[in-house]
Amino acid sequence: MIHEILAVGPLQCNCSIVGDEGTHEAIVIDPGDDISDVLSIVQKHNLTVKQIVITHAHIDHVGGAMKLRETTGAPILINENDYALLKMLDVQAAWLGMTAPGYVEIDHSLADADKVVAGPLTASVIHTPGHTEGSICLYFPAQQKLIAGDTLFAGSIGRTDLPGGNFNKIIRSLHDKLLALPDETVVVPGHGPLTTIGAERESNPFLK
Ligand SMILES: [Zn+2]
Repeated sequence: MIHEILAVGPLQCNCSIVGDEGTHEAIVIDPGDDISDVLSIVQKHNLTVKQIVITHAHIDHVGGAMKLRETTGAPILINENDYALLKMLDVQAAWLGMTAPGYVEIDHSLADADKVVAGPLTASVIHTPGHTEGSICLYFPAQQKLIAGDTLFAGSIGRTDLPGGNFNKIIRSLHDKLLALPDETVVVPGHGPLTTIGAERESNPFLK
């Protein structure tokens, strides 16, 4: 599996470009900004973007989605529980002093246990409400890899003090769904360095 991670935008959101070497089909996760850099990676590997997945509707994760869709024609997939947040992108932009990206159109809602595919690559959607009501993670079981959005970080968890956040829900999502994954699972958080489920199970202060 081709997997490149690019920290995009002023908040350095980890955008993942995941592709299959054989069919060259790809999934882009959280294209928050810097779409020309994302497209350079897509072209470098001769990939065709089939799906654009948004882990949650915060501007730093979704801000470049429409631009990427215009260029690639790939659909934008997001959990429907974040539609309300998506309508507040202008408010989110104002909080952060950023330029609003304009209207983001959703092609399909992703629900828990849905599959996202590109060639033979298959990821399962894990609905992990807490950071936002519609937060999802993408789990690639064959590659033992989890794209965690802002639900789980190395040594920390997503903040729950923003609109739609709920501390009890994120703790339940982490314990019931993410800690159920094998220790070897490599975690790609929405920001910052990679980790594993095992390392977080062992030492993350929020998971004790
Ligand atoms: Zn977020």
